[in-house]
Amino acid sequence: MAIVNVFAGSPLDRASVRRTDEGWLGERLRSPRTPVVAMWEGKPLVTEEARIAYLTADRALDAAEHPSTVLFLGLDGDTPVFAVEMTGAADPTDGPLAGMGRFAELRGVALSLPGPEAAVIAAAKSLFDWHRRHGFCSACGAATRVVDGGWRRACPSCDAEHFPRVDPVVIMLPVANGRCLLGRNVGWPEGRMSALAGFMEPGESIEEACARELREEAGLVVTRVAYHSSQPWPFPSSLMIGLVAEVAEAPATPDGVELEELRWFTREEARAVLDGHHPEVATPGGLGVARQLLAAWVEDAA
Ligand SMILES: [Zn+2]
Repeated sequence: MAIVNVFAGSPLDRASVRRTDEGWLGERLRSPRTPVVAMWEGKPLVTEEARIAYLTADRALDAAEHPSTVLFLGLDGDTPVFAVEMTGAADPTDGPLAGMGRFAELRGVALSLPGPEAAVIAAAKSLFDWHRRHGFCSACGAATRVVDGGWRRACPSCDAEHFPRVDPVVIMLPVANGRCLLGRNVGWPEGRMSALAGFMEPGESIEEACARELREEAGLVVTRVAYHSSQPWPFPSSLMIGLVAEVAEAPATPDGVELEELRWFTREEARAVLDGHHPEVATPGGLGVARQLLAAWVEDAA
């Protein structure tokens, strides 16, 4: 059975053929029955019960500045779902959206949201973030415009096309002889440890990125890599590729640049970390795939 991490598992059909149909998109956006996800400063509008507080399109567009970025997120059954971004210093729930909910930090509310709703918000958050940082053409410098329901930017000056980017990150749990290794990043408080991670570089396979990161950051030699699961990570737009890496038994040495401390754990100790009962080490947060990697290994499923 496929593992669905937090921020994956969107129920929407992305219906990419509809993205280019501007007439259809405009018509749906004018319908009072079309639900719209509102985001302000990267925060989704949610209800007190931590559900998406959908707005009608007219209400969302009235509350946003013009022109605002509008995304077609996909179809929920036959119903098109859009997202609109609000900008500016003033919280719209103190103004035109009073009584409609609250704008919440996604990290804080993600585990309270139903999984499918967290996934819908994650896609919108990553796309809005990309639009904010890609207003100008990287080829010629001209201002670009949003097309395809928000899934592309087009340059009217040189005709370059720009697509939302996803940055792959390998995140891996090193294991050897019945023990697993967790690390503490430079700057993390004492006792906070997690799996090791790093951005992939051009020209690397996933296995090669995993081996390089573990060699550079911990002085380890990888002998085998097993894929576990992946996770869209909307801070701002990564894809976490979760791996379990068998390594040759050797002292693990933190590089002092990225990692400050490394420590081996038996399954029993790792279980105590997950359960919150370890006397010194705190569990990786519940949002990320690191916790799933550790749990899978503890249960001997990895
Ligand atoms: Zn251009």
